[in-house]
Amino acid sequence: MRLIEHWIDGKSFTGTGAAAGDVTDPATGDVTAQVGLASKDDVEAAVGSARDAFPSWASTSLARRTRILFRFRELLNDRADELAAIITSEHGKVLSDAAGEVARGQEVVEFACGIAHLLKGSFTSAASTGVDVHSIREPLGPVAIIGPFNFPVMVPMWFFPVAIAAGNTIVLKPSEKVPSAAMWLAELWRDAGLPDGVFNVVHGGREAVDALLRHPDVQAVSFVGSTPVARHVYATASAEGKRVQAFGGAKNHMVVLPDADLDLAADQAVNAGYGSAGERCMAISVCVAVGDCADALVAKIQERTRALRTGDGRRACDMGPLVSAAALHRVRSYIDAGLAAGARLVVDGRDAEPDADGAGFFVGPSLFDDVTPDMSIYQDEIFGPVLSVMRVPSLDDALRLVNANPYGNGTAIFTNDGRAARHFQNTVRVGMVGVNVPIPVPVAYYSFGGWKNSLFGDSHAHGTDGVHFFTRAKVVTSRWPEQNTGGGVDLVFPRNI
Ligand code: NAD
Repeated sequence: MRLIEHWIDGKSFTGTGAAAGDVTDPATGDVTAQVGLASKDDVEAAVGSARDAFPSWASTSLARRTRILFRFRELLNDRADELAAIITSEHGKVLSDAAGEVARGQEVVEFACGIAHLLKGSFTSAASTGVDVHSIREPLGPVAIIGPFNFPVMVPMWFFPVAIAAGNTIVLKPSEKVPSAAMWLAELWRDAGLPDGVFNVVHGGREAVDALLRHPDVQAVSFVGSTPVARHVYATASAEGKRVQAFGGAKNHMVVLPDADLDLAADQAVNAGYGSAGERCMAISVCVAVGDCADALVAKIQERTRALRTGDGRRACDMGPLVSAAALHRVRSYIDAGLAAGARLVVDGRDAEPDADGAGFFVGPSLFDDVTPDMSIYQDEIFGPVLSVMRVPSLDDALRLVNANPYGNGTAIFTNDGRAARHFQNTVRVGMVGVNVPIPVPVAYYSFGGWKNSLFGDSHAHGTDGVHFFTRAKVVTSRWPEQNTGGGVDLVFPRNI
């Protein structure tokens, strides 16, 4: 059985942890590898490697640093298909979707190639008589990136291109369910010429995460995962005095007004509800039909949902399996709970016949209508291909529903009424808003992040927020008098003149 090791100081590292986890191909249910789970000592070795590499990397010129990023980009462009295949083999999403994930991660590399412009400080000549002021942004040191299973490539790439370009060193702890992509990326960095120790990978679960959160040399933590773990990460790492951004779960609403193009809305509800089997933090899980459009909208979504092909992501399918047997059990139990609570199951994914061999973790796309706020299928993040339709009389009722939800990652409105869309975007308490766009993931030069229980910390990912998160500011006030013209001894607080 293949053993997936850690990556420390530019090479594979076997680790001292006694435990190992199974890595599964979700489309077949086969165990394809074992992943070593890091001990505290393994985390110590990874952080030590990042700490030792930091001074030299931080003082490497911007020209040299960015040249390595450009090389990484070129290598990734040449070999993106290999990485997409790795994602599909461990996550299960269809190959074209995996390729899309790689492309969105690559956008952040391209953004980070321009870091020199983003790190430019400001300079003020003669702020006071003979006194100049300038600002600098410096890297932090070793930073930890802890990823979720659902985007093995894109989510770590929200952070590490910017962090590396800014002069930091990295310890990446990917989800133990999808460990291979991180190792492939580590080798690509080596091939691109990144010095040893700048990019390290440790595998594992809670023990490895907690060792990173408490390690005194780790300066900042970027975490992405479920809300309870994000809360734990934020509380633990900030109590240790670290900078933290902890992205949590989501429950994203798509509001459809009666004047919307209902065919467009139905297409997009299906794409955003069932893409990646609903295992996206920006998936639409609730479609809020306003006024009298509900019956027509549900009929259109139903027709499209029934036509979806579920199966092995390497075949000609629209939707792959869930990531694990546990996820499958969880999603099926939510479908049971929705029925028991009185929601109307319009399409039952439990009946799906997947195009796959073996015992993969499949459930087909499921559509519920007449869902109400008290039901668990509305209240909880299901993280599977279950789309709920709720019916409300007016836009303000829809806004009240969205704003009362404890999550605030993404939302969308579908309408042809600009005034209604503007009212929605200005009133909704959610971090990322789409207007006739169902999954409004911002481009790399803007920043990604939700509100409420979807993000703990005040910095979003990539864009200028990312640059600020991975650097700290310094302001220098200087003068070079020809002789002692400082005014002599004077205990009064200095005024600028
Ligand atoms: P998860 O919280 O189970 O795991 C995330 C990471 O935390 C993994 O690396 C895991 O090993 C580690 N971990 C798990 N339990 C831990 C514990 N008790 N203590 C310390 N570390 C622990 O999340 P997941 O199932 O891998 O990912 C799905 C979740 O991530 C969903 O809730 C989804 O909405 C969320 N997500 C959010 C965003 C966002 O941008 N807000 C993006 C992607 C995924």
